[in-house]
Amino acid sequence: MTQILIDMVKLRKALVDNPNQTIAEGLLYPDINKNGLKTLRELASFRFTCRKCEDAPCIAVCPSEALEKDEEGIINRHTNLCISCKSCVTICPFGTMMTDFFQHHRNKDLFYDLTDRNEMEMFIKASPAGTVLMTEADESPADNIYRLNDRVLIREYLYTAE
Ligand code: SF4
Ligand code: SF4
Repeated sequence: MTQILIDMVKLRKALVDNPNQTIAEGLLYPDINKNGLKTLRELASFRFTCRKCEDAPCIAVCPSEALEKDEEGIINRHTNLCISCKSCVTICPFGTMMTDFFQHHRNKDLFYDLTDRNEMEMFIKASPAGTVLMTEADESPADNIYRLNDRVLIREYLYTAE
């Protein structure tokens, strides 16, 4: 099956190079869960970029109790509670969340449903050059490529405690 590869390393650099741009977001609508619709970028950041701090200052600072850890230690944001204050973005010592995360009033025309092949292609075109591509390849930790789910691969440098 054709999958999407999102390069989080290049995406972060693209945002640093041009902080005012609006980054296109990929969604998998069947992934809607009780905590609201999550973009792939958010899911990837909390699963792969986050260092899973024991004391989790992001959770402590949140004024809305919108963040919690799941059973795997992965941060989960309750979108219905989040007030987009960005305190968590600011306090995270590792820059897990990109600066444009959790904005209200984002351009919904830049949200793409990746269960649809046409939208997948539009998502690639709308994303910063070289940050998203289609692939038939599989997970490859040697290349820093990991599986987020059956349709999406993520390139990210994982933190290891050793
Ligand atoms: S502060 Fe940052 S790195 Fe630490 S748990 Fe929260 S999001 Fe992850
Ligand atoms: S942006 Fe949302 S999740 Fe983050 S601290 Fe503010 S309310 Fe909590």
